[in-house]
Amino acid sequence: MSGWHRRYRCDVTGHDAISEVDDGVLGAWLTERGEPAYRVRQIRRHASLAGTCGWSDLTDVPKRLRDDLAVSFRWSSVEPVTEQASADGETRKALLALWDGHRIETVLMPHHGARNSVCVSTQAGCPMACAFCATGEMGLIRNLTAGEIVDQVRHWQDELAAEGDRVSHVVYMGMGEPFNNYEATLASARMLTDPDAFGISPRRITISTCGVVPKIDALASEGLPINLAISLHAPVDSIRTAIMPINRRWDIDLVLASAARYAKKTKRRVTFEYILLGGVNDSAEAAALLARRITEHMRPGAAHVNLIPYNPGPGGFRRPPVERMERFAEILEGGGISATVRISKGQDIAAACGQLKVPEGRAAPVA
Ligand code: SAH
Repeated sequence: MSGWHRRYRCDVTGHDAISEVDDGVLGAWLTERGEPAYRVRQIRRHASLAGTCGWSDLTDVPKRLRDDLAVSFRWSSVEPVTEQASADGETRKALLALWDGHRIETVLMPHHGARNSVCVSTQAGCPMACAFCATGEMGLIRNLTAGEIVDQVRHWQDELAAEGDRVSHVVYMGMGEPFNNYEATLASARMLTDPDAFGISPRRITISTCGVVPKIDALASEGLPINLAISLHAPVDSIRTAIMPINRRWDIDLVLASAARYAKKTKRRVTFEYILLGGVNDSAEAAALLARRITEHMRPGAAHVNLIPYNPGPGGFRRPPVERMERFAEILEGGGISATVRISKGQDIAAACGQLKVPEGRAAPVA
């Protein structure tokens, strides 16, 4: 099967989308119009139902109110610009326009009909400047609102509904550093897990961070049992600092200690992501050292390592041979750390880990 490319006509205006107003504001807006309080939940439910594609679909809401809503609130905070499908027959990537013309990407990763994972962005661009990541080359353009994060899920939900399917998992692994936009990230996760809204189990939601330690501790105290993934990528500080500038602020010991606190407090296993960069961090010694350092901080079973072969991107790195990656995983396992090699999909449409980048950068508002 070959990939495809679809182009949309865009209609983006400047007022708030329904996902961007909180219940208080929406409630006051409704009260002003003499509407009962239950309409808040009714509208929220509609705005998260798969296949409800616009205000006109709210057929159990009076027509007059529907028209008023359509004037006051945009149905979605994101508008699809283009969409691409990978030749793998599953992965799809959408370029979405925000009200101010900036653009972000979101990826749908179906897994053989068993699950549909959506990868969301939390920022337009990213300030972290990791050496291997395409998004980092953009720099930070701006934080996304909680609504703009949630509406990426709604985009795929609507598309899947047309195919009789639904979103099952959400990973915060798109453009940006979720913990540099903590409030909006958390608010979006709460909306996605709200049984009255999306109702996705928190256990099917994963937030990935490059290691913003205070926010790892903050998340541990939220009482929201979502999964935490931490991009570690090196067993020693000299290597990690060379490829991830954030290591100057919070080094490996600080990150591992916070991961241990997180696991202890939430009783949830923490995943460490580890990109395999040929000749940089993929040696047998690196694997043994990584296992040792994790074990120093965490009890057996509290950590899992997800090995990510480097996807073509900045930095001029290369992907190690398969045997070398498997050897790395075996050494970790031998050291008591469970490990898997994650083969990224969607490279042909630049939708794999670390490949999300909007060439337009600060795009002019779409016509
Ligand atoms: N900023 C967060 C969320 C991004 S998640 C974080 O760093 O965790 C994206 C994952 O893909 C991260 O683990 C990131 O380090 C990884 N990644 C970035 N560039 C990559 C590349 N070229 N190949 C493989 N993985 C990459």
